Amino acid sequence: MNVIEYDRIKNQLANLRIDTEGHRVFGVPRGGMCAAALLTRATVVTDSAAATVILDDIIDSGKTRDFYREKHPGTPFVSLFEKGPDDGWVVFPWEVTRDGRTEGSPEDAVVRIIEWIGDDPNREGLKDTPRRVLKAFQEMTTGIRTTDDDLCGILGTTFAERGADELVVVKNITFSSLCEHHLLPFFGHAHVAYIPTGGEIVGLSKFARLVRAVASRPQVQERITAKVASIINEVLKPLGVGVVTVCKHACMSCRGVEQLDSVAVSSSMHGSFRDSGPARAELLALI
Ligand code: ZN
Repeated sequence: MNVIEYDRIKNQLANLRIDTEGHRVFGVPRGGMCAAALLTRATVVTDSAAATVILDDIIDSGKTRDFYREKHPGTPFVSLFEKGPDDGWVVFPWEVTRDGRTEGSPEDAVVRIIEWIGDDPNREGLKDTPRRVLKAFQEMTTGIRTTDDDLCGILGTTFAERGADELVVVKNITFSSLCEHHLLPFFGHAHVAYIPTGGEIVGLSKFARLVRAVASRPQVQERITAKVASIINEVLKPLGVGVVTVCKHACMSCRGVEQLDSVAVSSSMHGSFRDSGPARAELLALI
């Protein structure tokens, strides 16, 4: 845990130049209030309408800043830190609890869920669970910052294969993903087929990498299927692309309707697989 020291916070406050006799500072609850309490010359006010400056501890998504800017367009909004997309979790000293947990941290959120279901987060078997849960979520979402350009790059290297214009099928690519509605896993197989154009083919293992990259973030199965098909279509410009996924969803088997054996099938077709009945029939027969 990386706790920011008070000295650094005081430095930041000095840089903001708001600790003067003339300033009336409103601290955004709760972090901004804690920061405002460190001011010695400015007046701390409890009504944002009376403030000459609004202070927050950190700008995270920007939602809080936008809220106060709209509410008081003439009042400057400043913060100790602004969080970039790649910055880790920032912890202020006032967020650390007596037992060393960080209030509002992802780890604390898991502790609270355990408490909320009625179990004891301090019992032996659960003590290290929050850390493990976060690690698992991290592992299941490694593709979260993967852009479409990255995905296209996976298929970037092609090989010339003269006359290659017959159907290629890669069956049973295994993958797992995280259902974005419940954050529970779903997993299964993807079957990928394409008909090359102009004698250009791609290494077959690339399809497995593509499927996994698309799947490793909160997703819905239909979007994975459509995305894989459209990336292949865009990069290889083949005569046809067909992607079929077959998945079991933990959110269907472990809760709600409790359908242990039901599988969800989704497909996405482009080109000849979409337009031609026989091409589609040949594909479906093969998978
Ligand atoms: Zn779900």
